[in-house]
Amino acid sequence: MARVYITDYVEDPTFETDVLGDLVSPQPVEDVEVLLVWRRMVDAAFMDRFPKLRTIIRYGVGTDNVDIEEADRRGITVCNTPDYGIDEVALTAISFLLYFDRALGLYDHKARRYSGGAWQNTEKHLRRADRSTVGCIGAGRIGSAFLLKARALGFNTVFYDPYKPSGYEKILGAGRSDSLRGILAAADYVSIHVVLTEETAGMVDRDFVDRMKQGAVLINTSRGQVFSGLDFLVKPLTTGRIRGVAMDVLPQEPPQGGELIDAWRSKADWTTGRVLINPHTAYYSREAFREMRTKAAQNALRVLNGDPPLNRIN
Ligand code: NAD
Repeated sequence: MARVYITDYVEDPTFETDVLGDLVSPQPVEDVEVLLVWRRMVDAAFMDRFPKLRTIIRYGVGTDNVDIEEADRRGITVCNTPDYGIDEVALTAISFLLYFDRALGLYDHKARRYSGGAWQNTEKHLRRADRSTVGCIGAGRIGSAFLLKARALGFNTVFYDPYKPSGYEKILGAGRSDSLRGILAAADYVSIHVVLTEETAGMVDRDFVDRMKQGAVLINTSRGQVFSGLDFLVKPLTTGRIRGVAMDVLPQEPPQGGELIDAWRSKADWTTGRVLINPHTAYYSREAFREMRTKAAQNALRVLNGDPPLNRIN
């Protein structure tokens, strides 16, 4: 009897049925006890459709599309799948960093102008890696992997995460800042790796950018809503107050428009080599995608077998 329902996105549930067989329901039937959720909003009205619902499992890390308070009220367990794409997301953030650090976009753009004579070096501001400080906000799984990779490449590293125990900085071999203000004053690269909470929503705003170092770079692979919007970035980017912004995630996905998005879409000159946007794919590799779906299905199987589920959120 089918007891697990995949709410959205997955069109071919091969990986899930490899684990769960015909326990996966093709329809949202009343017998469903476990939901496997991609981006669908799981609110009270949706939960009402499944009177036997016991557990909601998010395929990815963030659970902001699940009403956890409502699940609490109903005694429903909410879990995520936090460990499938740590290296992929950290590597995307590192790739964004190196794109700016070695001015790849600007060089590629400006080199097109030369067809005769000598090549010109247009980016005289570049520094050796050990002269730059990479700042990470949120040193959880992905932030920590990012810091270790940045350190291995020769950068100085520092993080801000008030929820990590004292001494965690020694494990990472990184500096530690005890305030947001402190890390923004120190970092040439600011990479955001926090979870989306009431505290972090809108954390990156005009004031945040005003506190960044002159010519610093802003990277976000966490959640788009950690930014209060996007258009506050236009002025600091066009004036050179910050050198660039790279984002895998946006406040609205896909973006509808706005000053920054319109300029990026039309390849306005000032965005070249300065604004880099990916379509929320930092987590993706074929291996990570399979691991995520297999682990979520295995967790569903634990629930059906009466074992305590892994990665409980509530
Ligand atoms: P995690 O829970 O392991 O780490 C998050 C860290 O943020 C924690 O250490 C926590 O203490 C810290 N934190 C919370 N509030 C903070 C604050 N106000 N200031 C500083 N630090 C704070 O999560 P993770 O698995 O490392 O994921 C990090 C982020 O990446 C999440 O937002 C997740 O949704 C996102 N993510 C994105 C993709 C993608 O494809 N772009 C894929 C996976 C995860």
